[in-house]
Amino acid sequence: MIKFFAICLAFLFLASCSQNKTSSKTEVSAYRHAPDKKAIVHKKEMVPLVVIDPGHGGFDLGTHSKTYEEKEICLKTASYLRKHLEKAGYHVIMTRSRDEYLPLKKRAEIANQAKCQVLISIHCNAAKNSSAKGIEIFYTQKTEPWRAKKSKELAQSVLSSLLSGTGAESRGIKEGNFCVIRETKMPSILIETGFLTNEDERKKLSNDFYLDTVAKLITAGVDKYFQS
Ligand SMILES: [Zn+2]
Repeated sequence: MIKFFAICLAFLFLASCSQNKTSSKTEVSAYRHAPDKKAIVHKKEMVPLVVIDPGHGGFDLGTHSKTYEEKEICLKTASYLRKHLEKAGYHVIMTRSRDEYLPLKKRAEIANQAKCQVLISIHCNAAKNSSAKGIEIFYTQKTEPWRAKKSKELAQSVLSSLLSGTGAESRGIKEGNFCVIRETKMPSILIETGFLTNEDERKKLSNDFYLDTVAKLITAGVDKYFQS
């Protein structure tokens, strides 16, 4: 009799275990599916597309001082920026990814056709006065109010990130009438990352590690803009 009860208890125990196992399996798979599906949809809809525009290219050297050409520094910085933005989860398109000439209107056209969320144009500065230095970012006010407002916000966010990480002098955010930021339809900025005519900044801008740091800081600024 005792043996019979023991067998019954063992059977009931096993049955309840298998029931728990089944229900917990169902819960796990339901849990696994729902958030994943949601996450994928969310990612597809929400991951912003950034167009990076490395200034100049081809026969257009940009500003150049001694052996340093703006077109090359812009392309290097832009390539680092692409790497950091992609690492942070953004989609990225570059207006040029090699040493080629690209008309300004074509650059704006690429961004407009891509329907990107922001455009970032990378440049280096020059001045007759070799003591001129620092970082400045341009945006346009001659556009729809929402685009001017968002461009200004993006410029502020990227500039404050760049200043805190490089210790460079601030030349502020400024209104500019450059084709790439004027002809685009999304928030757009043009970053002057430093002066090739200033000895200190020329040295920095010729250093790949510095350019990588600049790209990392621009990414942090872009990230902050999208989070706010
Ligand atoms: Zn330039």
